[in-house]
Amino acid sequence: MRLSDGFGRTFKYLRLSVTEACNFKCSYCLPDGYNKCAGPSPLSLDELRRAATAFSELGLSKIRLTGGEPTIRKDFDEIAHTIAALPGVDKLALTTNGYRLRDRAQGWRDAGISAINVSLDSLNPNTFHQVTGHDRCREVLEGIDAAFDAGFESVKVNAVYLKGINDQEIDAYLTLAKNRPLSVRFIELMETGDHPDYFRRHHIAASTISDKLEHEGWTQKLKAADAGPANEYVHPDYQGSIGLIAPYSKDFCKSCNRLRFSSMGNLHLCLFGNFGVPMRQYLQSDDQIKELKEALWRAVARKTAGHQLGLGLTGQTSNLSSIGG
Ligand code: SAM
Ligand code: SF4
Repeated sequence: MRLSDGFGRTFKYLRLSVTEACNFKCSYCLPDGYNKCAGPSPLSLDELRRAATAFSELGLSKIRLTGGEPTIRKDFDEIAHTIAALPGVDKLALTTNGYRLRDRAQGWRDAGISAINVSLDSLNPNTFHQVTGHDRCREVLEGIDAAFDAGFESVKVNAVYLKGINDQEIDAYLTLAKNRPLSVRFIELMETGDHPDYFRRHHIAASTISDKLEHEGWTQKLKAADAGPANEYVHPDYQGSIGLIAPYSKDFCKSCNRLRFSSMGNLHLCLFGNFGVPMRQYLQSDDQIKELKEALWRAVARKTAGHQLGLGLTGQTSNLSSIGG
């Protein structure tokens, strides 16, 4: 039984948020920092295990741990270890702001995480501080070195491309990919409910980067049929690659192969949807996994063709830390 929707898309990839909380204050995400509201606590280790078991049995063999900042959870290593050990999970990945990476890279690799995406929105310590509220640029760069030393199969750097903030740094990012197999992914800023003005001030189309890359001899790799939304560029003089994530581009949603599960136990069919489908009631005992799979199956059949960001409709997503990006 594989999960598929009414548009012929099948789903192999789950983004599993383990917390909404974060220690950073990224200007495009949580500019005032994370504000804990009264309400249920995030999914426990057992609830996360049951969710991951159901999804993996439905064919989602790649799982990415995300958040908020997933690594602020005290039981993060245990979560990683437990999910990586599930029989249907072929690949466990992590997206992190990198604040613990320098010290924990080897431990997380040993726990079974094989791919890591590190957010790094500037290579300039002052700009990094301005964007994140933290003076940790060098620490995160050292964390990336530690990830290579620890033997991760894939190391990627995510940078949200921001007009007037880091748009002069493309060449510096390219040098990161020069002599090692690192992929830099430029993410076009997405409008979220909390920050329409920020979006108007700082959004630039990803096509400005693809134009520059093509002018400088980079070529776009052919996409595999089951590839995700990034367009990948390679260059003969570079060991690494550059990925562009352009959510406003035509056909972006056609290749959607992912589902999202929030740390509150809601299934999100689209990052910019109007609702999450509550599933926590099916996560309370191991005996409910069959029931959970049936509920997931019914919900996914209702997935719509695509988001309507181009029309300024951001859905209920107030910021991406609440769902996991
Ligand atoms: N805290 C972790 C991190 O920053 O890597 C994981 C969660 S974060 C929500 C996941 C990704 O979403 C990060 O790469 C972040 O830069 C990106 N992101 C957050 N808000 C965004 C926005 N409005 N537009 C584009 N990307 C965004
Ligand atoms: Fe935290 Fe990631 Fe959002 Fe930055 S982008 S505030 S690190 S959740």
